[in-house]
Amino acid sequence: MASAWEISNMPAFKALDGDIEADICIVGAGLAGVWCSYLLSKEGKKIVLIDCDKVGRAATLYTTAFVTEVIDTPLEELSKMFDEKSAREVWQSGAEAIDRIERVIEEEGIDCEFMRLPLHMYARSEEELRSFEREADLARALGFKGRLVHKPLDGFENCGAFRIEDQAKYHPMKFFKGLLEATVSNGVEVYEDTEAVEILASNPTTVRTASGHSIVAQDVVVTTYEPFNNPEPTHFKKGMYVSYVYELELPEGSVPEGLYIDSANPYHYVRVDNLGNKQRMIVGGEDHRALIKFEDEKSFKALKGYIDKTFPNLSYKVLNKWQGAILEPSDGLPLIGQVAEHEYVACAFSGNGMTYSATAGALITDLILGRVNDYSSLYDPRRSLKPGAVLRKARDYTQEFFGGAIKNLFK
Ligand SMILES: Cc1cc2nc3c(=O)[nH]c(=O)nc-3n(C[C@H](O)[C@H](O)[C@H](O)COP(=O)(O)OP(=O)(O)OC[C@H]3O[C@@H](n4cnc5c(N)ncnc54)[C@H](O)[C@@H]3O)c2cc1C
Repeated sequence: MASAWEISNMPAFKALDGDIEADICIVGAGLAGVWCSYLLSKEGKKIVLIDCDKVGRAATLYTTAFVTEVIDTPLEELSKMFDEKSAREVWQSGAEAIDRIERVIEEEGIDCEFMRLPLHMYARSEEELRSFEREADLARALGFKGRLVHKPLDGFENCGAFRIEDQAKYHPMKFFKGLLEATVSNGVEVYEDTEAVEILASNPTTVRTASGHSIVAQDVVVTTYEPFNNPEPTHFKKGMYVSYVYELELPEGSVPEGLYIDSANPYHYVRVDNLGNKQRMIVGGEDHRALIKFEDEKSFKALKGYIDKTFPNLSYKVLNKWQGAILEPSDGLPLIGQVAEHEYVACAFSGNGMTYSATAGALITDLILGRVNDYSSLYDPRRSLKPGAVLRKARDYTQEFFGGAIKNLFK
């Protein structure tokens, strides 16, 4: 499976070949693991970061890298599922994560095509545009820069949009590589081809590897996407989905460079990058539950149909297509925090892993150092699920199932 973001000069690391000690062992070297390693190493902690494969070759490679505070549950829904304060905090933590990403790019001199730009949620009908009004009003009431655009956006079929300012995009593997190199220069030891198979809870904690070695550490952070050791507080709080993506090449100036999403269920996401005398468009969607096996080609065909309907006059060449795993939280919010004594987890980021990885790095650093963090209870993996929140998300996921996978079966 190919991704648009492959780069050839990623650093390589040897496998762990003996027993070692550290202050903190981080299991899983995707974006979340590297963010945690980077921020903890800046606090002077001795960190060991391990991956069962090569670094950055799982979900982080197959992302589309919208860097945004806008999550797939609208603010209005979040306010009903939790309360307005929580809804504001979700977007606020995302906005702070974008600032943190921008700051680290500057401080570490990471060349990764980072660009601030608005995100547009485009309406496919006048009625849909009217339904965005409440969301735009609420965004403003909660202190965010969002407004309705009453005329169609250039370059494709739409009736206007809800525009949210100050979002961003970057090249995810260039960013990942830069953050990893900064992490290594802070003294973090990285081991590839080193699979964690067990965490022995004692003081200190021991991570056992498949090759029989031990990493003894005060604290362990699990960032393996789906936590490899299945900690009890995360049970029933997440489900694996699959999302499908096309990468297209367009003539220069076809669609304004930007980030676009619709509000269908399952929703679609479109990213346009200007690349000199041509453009790259990445279109994703048609998500469905991973447990239920569908012919992937049906989902790709449905996505292609969506592209042709939404961009009827576009001339494009298909460069690539891929699919990737999305871990959805049962109540719409990720699981970031402590799951047992000296054991932490960061997962269930849905389609917002770029910002949630940065949030997880800061939050887990604060928890390990005993500092207060504004988002610790909001994202606490040990929280009790609110029945109302789970029911609302279950309704969304059911609509998504019938609106996407089942519909696509008959195409
Ligand atoms: C198609 C698609 C589109 C997306 N679009 C966006 C987007 O536009 N914006 C956004 O913010 N997010 C998006 N996401 C989500 C985002 O990509 C992920 O949330 C993010 O990359 C997750 O990073 P991670 O570090 O948690 O996981 P991963 O990158 O999956 O890293 C986990 C690592 O753990 C390792 N591992 C697993 N088990 C073990 C073990 N037992 N021992 C040691 N190591 C282990 C794996 O090898 C892997 O390297 C998208 C995801 C997909 C699939």
